[in-house]
Amino acid sequence: MKLKWGATTDVGMVRQQNEDDFCAEENLFVVADGMGGHNAGEVASALAISTVRSGARGGIFTADQFRELVQQANTAIYTASLDDSTQSGMGTTLTAMAVVPGEEPAVLVANVGDSRTYLFRHGVLSRVSVDHSYVQELVNEGIITPEEARVHPRRNIVTRAMGIDRNVQVDVFHQLVRTGDRVLLCSDGLVDEVADFDIAQVLIDHSNPQEAAEALVMVANANGGRDNTTVIVVDIVDDISEPVPVPVADITTTVTPVTADATAPMPAPVVRKFLRPSVIAFWSALVFIVLSASTVLGVYARSGYFVGFDSNDNVTIYQGRVGGVLWFQPTVNTQTRLNGDDLPEDVRREVLLNRTFASSSQAAKFLSLVETAILDASTTTVPITTTTVK
Ligand code: MG
Repeated sequence: MKLKWGATTDVGMVRQQNEDDFCAEENLFVVADGMGGHNAGEVASALAISTVRSGARGGIFTADQFRELVQQANTAIYTASLDDSTQSGMGTTLTAMAVVPGEEPAVLVANVGDSRTYLFRHGVLSRVSVDHSYVQELVNEGIITPEEARVHPRRNIVTRAMGIDRNVQVDVFHQLVRTGDRVLLCSDGLVDEVADFDIAQVLIDHSNPQEAAEALVMVANANGGRDNTTVIVVDIVDDISEPVPVPVADITTTVTPVTADATAPMPAPVVRKFLRPSVIAFWSALVFIVLSASTVLGVYARSGYFVGFDSNDNVTIYQGRVGGVLWFQPTVNTQTRLNGDDLPEDVRREVLLNRTFASSSQAAKFLSLVETAILDASTTTVPITTTTVK
């Protein structure tokens, strides 16, 4: 199988740092989207890439081997996070494609998190990987459509990531390919900004894979560029046979690709056949419990507000729990121009207490007290009131 590819990564229009990383070389293509404070996201994504790249030097031959390699990368990140407190809790998503030898041209796609691998064939864009995300679970349950998921306020919550736990479940997909196919690997910075339909149009418009990758990043940035964006476009330019693209179920999990029509609901995953009813009942109950626990945890983690300083030392109202809960991190609710350097010392200490509130209006009320205290301090030396807003 002969390949041609193009790859690029971009910090985007809003972020200060690029926590994405990628690898594009003969027979191996990987995208990783890191997360974690103090630059730890960059460390996690780089570690994922370097571990998979070095482990794949001798070639990837089986799904189990690929899965094991991604597990090794998970262990490397997890161990590093334990060794350095500044990297505690760091993680990364990963989607990777490896060309495997065999009678029919095929690739293996590994996935953890919400970076994606797509297949583009005859103008139709299909997802090969399945996101491990909160909104994907809502899509699976039929609560929202894929298009609604793309703009959902909680679309960035991943339910699986590398480096968070000692072990991680890795999905591996076996995909037959043929001449003319294009494989697209990308971080969520692309799909959050550009709908599948528009991605397909860019791929149609740019036959050169490097130009296609760069054009996709340009569109993401033109649409807002609110996240780092990484894109790899791999063209299958030559193979001997032209196989029918039948998913292979006996190697690993196989999904029915989604069509380019972003408004159409995702087809249900292929259910393994010949399972006994008791087994189905057990797994159904387990899935229900896990989904319920995850939903309850998510609701808890997103409930409440607190006031603190952001990374630029500006007073900010956050939604969520101080320090976050597992992978649910607090998000900015209201950002002010009140900088820590401009605050009287007693007011600054008050903000550092990270007071929590049941609603954003209560937090806003506290903020107005802070502003009043600053005004008072500019004329008198009366300290900030310590009234607790309830
Ligand atoms: Mg991202």
